[in-house]
Amino acid sequence: MDYVGNVIRPPSEAYSMIIQVTVGCSHNQCNFCGTYKGYGFYVKDIDQVKRDIDEAARYKFTRAFLADGDVLILPTEKLLDIITYLRERNPRVERIGVYGNTKAILKKTVEDLKLLRDAGLGIIYHGIESGNKEVLKRIKKGAYPHKQLEAAEKVKAAGIQLSQTVLLGIGGTELSEAHAIDTGKHLGAMSPDFASALTVMLLPNTGLYRDFKAGSFRLPDKFGLLRELRLIIEHMDVTRECFFTSNHASNYLPIRATLPGDRAAVLRLLDQVLGSRDESVLKPEHMRAL
Ligand code: SF4
Repeated sequence: MDYVGNVIRPPSEAYSMIIQVTVGCSHNQCNFCGTYKGYGFYVKDIDQVKRDIDEAARYKFTRAFLADGDVLILPTEKLLDIITYLRERNPRVERIGVYGNTKAILKKTVEDLKLLRDAGLGIIYHGIESGNKEVLKRIKKGAYPHKQLEAAEKVKAAGIQLSQTVLLGIGGTELSEAHAIDTGKHLGAMSPDFASALTVMLLPNTGLYRDFKAGSFRLPDKFGLLRELRLIIEHMDVTRECFFTSNHASNYLPIRATLPGDRAAVLRLLDQVLGSRDESVLKPEHMRAL
């Protein structure tokens, strides 16, 4: 397989066949993200992508993920060609996933997305990070909440599963509470099929790290981060069932819950942990990772 650079995938695609279609990220400006720093974004040669799909067809897999960041930015026809070829060469494939940023989703019409769904695109991973406008501006996310909401509505209208991620700590101590409350409300309004909270990790090749070193960004402590998690869940009034997780390796406390049903139990657990401030129930620092 022809993998170039840092190839990442969502945790839930751990058992999927990864086919790299693009290299890097078409946005590549988020100030906390070091994954593709130093790479220019480009679309790989279609013949190479198809050679990888041919090679992958030797293996048994039912899910595939098209990497890297933001494959959805490709023209619909090109993406349809890749997805259709992948399913022709491996008819066992039940679900194909991609990362899609807000801009890429909004460039597609609902009809485009439906065509992609019918071809096999089953899930779009949409990193929103925060529901707070000031936070999104500071981190250079390139999309404000109303645009993220519009994008989420399109994906849902097309019948494609929507998985969104948010970042604990991304507002720093200064915007911690506003970030958490607005993010909870925003997730509630969008009501994705899946939502995950990750925790900010300060990576040396990022602008956020430089701000941290300069003292202009301060990360909440472990319990401050858990308080954010609590506020998010408290304010997340979903309109349909949502599977919520905080079991990513970056987090201090793993949670798996179906909202709204499990909300009261999760809040009770978080209150216990926040009340006791018992660090022994949290993931040790050396076991955290991206
Ligand atoms: S967080 Fe996502 S959209 Fe932002 S630069 Fe990194 S890969 Fe690109």
